[in-house]
Amino acid sequence: MTQLNVLEDFPILKQTDKNGNRLCYLDSAATSQKPEPVLRAMDDYYHTINANIHRGIYHIAEEATAAHENVREKVRAFINAGAASEIVFTRNATESINLVAYSWGRQTLQKGDVVLLTEMEHHANLIPWQLLAAEKELRLEFIPVKEDGQLDLEAYAGLLDMRPKLVSISGMSNVLGTIPPTKQMAADAHQAGALFLLDGAQMVPHQKVDIRDIDADFFAFSSHKMLGPTGIGVLYGKQALLEAMPPFFGGGEMIKKVYLRSFIANDVPWKFEAGTPAIAEAIGLGAAIDYLNAIGMDHVSAHEENLTEYAIRSLLTAPGLKILGPLNGKRGSAVSFTVDYAHPHDVAQILDSENICVRAGHHCAMPLHDRFAIPATTRASFYIYNTRDDVDRLLTGLEKVHRLFG
Ligand code: PMP
Repeated sequence: MTQLNVLEDFPILKQTDKNGNRLCYLDSAATSQKPEPVLRAMDDYYHTINANIHRGIYHIAEEATAAHENVREKVRAFINAGAASEIVFTRNATESINLVAYSWGRQTLQKGDVVLLTEMEHHANLIPWQLLAAEKELRLEFIPVKEDGQLDLEAYAGLLDMRPKLVSISGMSNVLGTIPPTKQMAADAHQAGALFLLDGAQMVPHQKVDIRDIDADFFAFSSHKMLGPTGIGVLYGKQALLEAMPPFFGGGEMIKKVYLRSFIANDVPWKFEAGTPAIAEAIGLGAAIDYLNAIGMDHVSAHEENLTEYAIRSLLTAPGLKILGPLNGKRGSAVSFTVDYAHPHDVAQILDSENICVRAGHHCAMPLHDRFAIPATTRASFYIYNTRDDVDRLLTGLEKVHRLFG
């Protein structure tokens, strides 16, 4: 089963424009659409058991607490973490990485320490380290990206000689679709005495993840890119690391005992979850995991690989079009390109007139665009609800752009 047929489950995708064109959504790397069971789970929560969690004695508060904590276990199983206590709920992948920088980084890193990143990082895995580097006088170093979009692993080996304290990389580039050999890179980082943080924002939605097999120390991702709602993300951290880390935010929920001048922090993961959490959103995330599990992540990957291969093959037939990133082999379903006759914003605008949604710009990876000496790209990104028909529509839309601008 390499072609999934799930369109029916996504109400938003049934919409048509005034010309009768169905919504062709090719921007799942930015955020995914939500299937009916996810929308229903959140609606049901508000209709039946809405209450604040962890402190209510009455039955709907207990049910809400159980539903929320049950999702922690679902997330654990989904990425094969060792314990549910290693799953911290945050707002998104960005907050998860900031949590590591502000809690672990601030406590551990000293002047002159090296943090090793790559040239293809999303700003979410760049700015938190820049902020901390400015505060603690750290050194940021970068694994180069080669012309074909792959990381320069020889350079990585050399950079590890600098004995970085942390290697923090994306498991899939949101621009290039590049999938680095994360397991090997984690092992190499550990060998060099560094911790390994994996930005899984573009990984978890698209492939089966076994975080214990990869052996990352920290792992960050967002619900909204994996069919779940916005407003909730995940930080996985190894138990011993999380336990040794100071709290990030202070307030309710993250404490065991409070005095006027001090407090005793709660156990992990709640130590990192100050304030009322995104309860309905957690329940929506749980429904998204159920939905993906029912399809099977192997089928999700196979569908996307098939479609991405078809998309790249089709796009390469378009005049004046250049794709950034790997053209074959194992790669993700984000496909960024330029055309030599129109600016990416013009491309996106003309495609929008055909009810086709693509993203144009730097995709929160400005240094990567600088690396390729281009200001912007157009990005089409695919997920389980996309079909070859969507790719064909993209190509027809590009023909229109070429007629107008070429
Ligand atoms: N990392 C990568 C690779 C991403 O693609 C994104 C989202 N575009 C993020 C981090 C940040 O995700 P969020 O905005 O949900 O925090």
